[in-house]
Amino acid sequence: MGPGSARWSSPRRWRYRPPLFDRPWPRVPTIFDACRAVGIPTAAIVADDRGLLCTGAADRRWPPDGIIPSGTALDAHGYPANAAVLPHLLAAVADSSLGFIFGHINEADTMGHDFGPESDAARACYRATDQVVGVVLDALASRWTDTVIVIVSDHDMQSRDSSVPVDPMVNAADGGWDAYIPDGGSALIHLKPGVDPERAGAALLRVDGVETWVRANDSVLIAGLKPGRIAAAPRYSTGGFHGAPITTRTVALVGGGDPAVRRIAGAIATRRPHLADWAPTIAPLLGVDLGHVDGTDLLG
Ligand SMILES: [Zn+2]
Repeated sequence: MGPGSARWSSPRRWRYRPPLFDRPWPRVPTIFDACRAVGIPTAAIVADDRGLLCTGAADRRWPPDGIIPSGTALDAHGYPANAAVLPHLLAAVADSSLGFIFGHINEADTMGHDFGPESDAARACYRATDQVVGVVLDALASRWTDTVIVIVSDHDMQSRDSSVPVDPMVNAADGGWDAYIPDGGSALIHLKPGVDPERAGAALLRVDGVETWVRANDSVLIAGLKPGRIAAAPRYSTGGFHGAPITTRTVALVGGGDPAVRRIAGAIATRRPHLADWAPTIAPLLGVDLGHVDGTDLLG
């Protein structure tokens, strides 16, 4: 039990919903929808499918309909193990009708949380993950000249240290918020009705450990914590965590034989890409139109 446990179970607990919950979410068609609209078959083979990745429009999906088949080997956090995902990824790669394949393997995240991102156990997992990627790359050999491979992480990770967890409620009366949801190095801050977000944000910056804040909507701010600091929560991962601004840095590797690869590699060598840039970069290569999106085409 952590310092935030009493608050967590308080009757004032609230449930976070996406900021624009009154509209369809996501607000734009996914790249799977865009491909479907022009008849390009796609696949989404993912270890973590809780709806967050919005893969519903993919033609080939694993787990089927997002439900992990019983008997699937799972990692310590309940996600399908890399070895369980790999055969489905290889089956997708072997299907030459597919124009876009999205794959996700999760074990590195689980090992980082449990043992720390720089631990021997995590490093062994990274090496094993590299081997899984190598198997997929080998399977793409016959299609190499017209293939673009993009390898990304969805976040970085930092190690737990002995610093005191950050409790945003210490300044709640001053700032005008009544509850928060911790997420590692960040927290969602729920403002009372009528509270000025700017005033609340200024009060948030006076909480020890808070580095920055952004507005999610009129009643929710997102607090970003300083490096090493974690938001007070009912429980903590033992080794590593993410959520803070410092963990928004992501891996970005590009390879393959398509002529676009060199251009993308040149672009990311000069400017660090944001995760939101990948879909608008890939879409023109596929000849699909995403409409208005947040990211920018790295080749634009
Ligand atoms: Zn994680």
